[in-house]
Amino acid sequence: DNAQPRKPKWIRVKAPTGEGYNATKKIMRDNKLVTVCEEAGCPNAGECWSRGHATMMIMGEICTRGCTFCNIATGKPSDLDAFEPGRVAEAVKKLSLNHVVITSVDRDDLADGGAEHFAQTIRAVRHRSPKTTIEVLTPDFLKCAPEVLEVVVEAKPDVFNHNLETVPGFYPSVRPGARYFHSLRLLQRVKELDPSIFTKSGIMVGLGEDKQGVQQVMDDMRAADIDFLTIGQYLQPTPKHHGVDRFVTPDEFKAYETAAYGKGFLMVSATPLTRSSYLAGDDFAKLQAA
Ligand code: SF4
Ligand code: SF4
Repeated sequence: DNAQPRKPKWIRVKAPTGEGYNATKKIMRDNKLVTVCEEAGCPNAGECWSRGHATMMIMGEICTRGCTFCNIATGKPSDLDAFEPGRVAEAVKKLSLNHVVITSVDRDDLADGGAEHFAQTIRAVRHRSPKTTIEVLTPDFLKCAPEVLEVVVEAKPDVFNHNLETVPGFYPSVRPGARYFHSLRLLQRVKELDPSIFTKSGIMVGLGEDKQGVQQVMDDMRAADIDFLTIGQYLQPTPKHHGVDRFVTPDEFKAYETAAYGKGFLMVSATPLTRSSYLAGDDFAKLQAA
């Protein structure tokens, strides 16, 4: 049965419009950049882009993995573009971003999983826009030598984000090809390698997980010294994707947020429309000012 629960009113969003949105779109086009905001059909695109905040995706539009919640095409990716780090830096500069999120498809086809390309992109942005804080949202580097992580860490992103996405029991149906404890350990190693980098992770809810499972994921994250947490409602990108089990209520999100702060996370965003990169810049600036 493919029947999906009706979207509640708290999940309906306005179509993206406005001057800021169009200006951002043009700069992205001019620099041949791909945004997750568009690719993933993110419900916050109108709001984020009007504020000049966006998440850029590097290393192509084709992923070697096939997560069942994700709308990015699976297949054989194209070769890396050596000029891409420079174009990302150019766009960040033109958009005068205070905070940029740089993410990518998974590149199991590359020996280093794209670690060096990430590092080059961080360095290029840093060089052109020294005041911009940089958040990377990386793949899991599961098939690579453990040392590749050091390449990204040594480029010193301000925030290192990698999403656990869901409870461990759902990995085979939601995130096949990934390993829950590998992803946790990846973030723990970032902290061990450079404690000055903030670590961040997130999950989607509404896939059928229970509340105890979510609490356990939070405990696992804190045991791995993860600083920031995002929890958002899963939305089905197309009918072919993993179904929505239910819409978690705003009150339940509030309860997750309270629990998460109780467990020691420094920054938590848990709302129906929270996305991994949602308002990361504003939150981060607040934290730095504190
Ligand atoms: Fe999508 Fe990332 Fe999974 Fe690739 S690894 S299918 S980009 S969520
Ligand atoms: Fe883009 Fe992230 Fe904002 Fe969504 S939440 S529009 S992906 S920056």
